[in-house]
Amino acid sequence: MSLPALHMEPRENARAERLLMRGQAPRDAVLTYHEICPAPSRYSYSLDVGQLDEHLRVVKELSLHCPAGRPAVTVSFDDGHLSNYSHALPLLERHDCRATFFVLAGRIGRDERSMNWMHLRELVSRGHRVESHGWSHRLLTHCTGAELREELIRSKKTIEDGIGRLVGAISAPHGRWNRRVLQACGAAGYESLFTSDPWSRSRDPQSPRLVGRLIVVQKMDARRLLKWLTMGPTEARVRRIPYALRRMVRSTLGDRTYYRLWSLWSGWEGPDDADNLARAATGRGGLNEDPPVSQ
Ligand SMILES: [Zn+2]
Repeated sequence: MSLPALHMEPRENARAERLLMRGQAPRDAVLTYHEICPAPSRYSYSLDVGQLDEHLRVVKELSLHCPAGRPAVTVSFDDGHLSNYSHALPLLERHDCRATFFVLAGRIGRDERSMNWMHLRELVSRGHRVESHGWSHRLLTHCTGAELREELIRSKKTIEDGIGRLVGAISAPHGRWNRRVLQACGAAGYESLFTSDPWSRSRDPQSPRLVGRLIVVQKMDARRLLKWLTMGPTEARVRRIPYALRRMVRSTLGDRTYYRLWSLWSGWEGPDDADNLARAATGRGGLNEDPPVSQ
């Protein structure tokens, strides 16, 4: 067994190899990427091609060490960026990796930065999955009943019609969900709701399956990713703490302030979600109907 030659300290590489040699399989994990750029970008959720290439080398190597019957590390992409097709797809093919693309149904083919139906059908024909990320990127926890149905049902049916495959999973924009959203996903026919918190797990067997994901940002180089995927149970308990703190901060500040801070931190300059949050601040949209129970 040999791990890919990463830009790692020999000590860290040896640690990961030791874990795998002891039979400690990599953690079950769903990784989530957003835009993939040819060169580094200011937006912290955007990774350059070289970084994704190194990540996929790690994923491929670790997947070989997953015991039979256990899921391997899964790769996913949110938002339907054209770069997922133009830059990520060739790398996925090179590493023989099949990914899941969560796309915004209302943006498919609408602008030059989004994938169109031809791109999505090609992804499906190459063995990848295309699932829903809603219709317009509204925070599902802020939607009225009618808006929630549009985000869930309209996006599902539109994507199914466009790619000719069933859509059974949805990823929550900004990872926001609550019990009301989870129940609405079940009523809309989804089998799984993907979140932005790697520790999310289903508690109610009657509801759609809740799947936690690790949102990958620029500062997570391949060395950190390898460490994350091979950490032991003690380290995992420590790693949960920042997620719990983030939930507390968001609950204290409210979504609108948190979103402003997130935009500053991430370098996000896009216009989406501002209308939704402004409306929520006026009391419309059920912001306080059912407080989020996780990210
Ligand atoms: Zn998104």
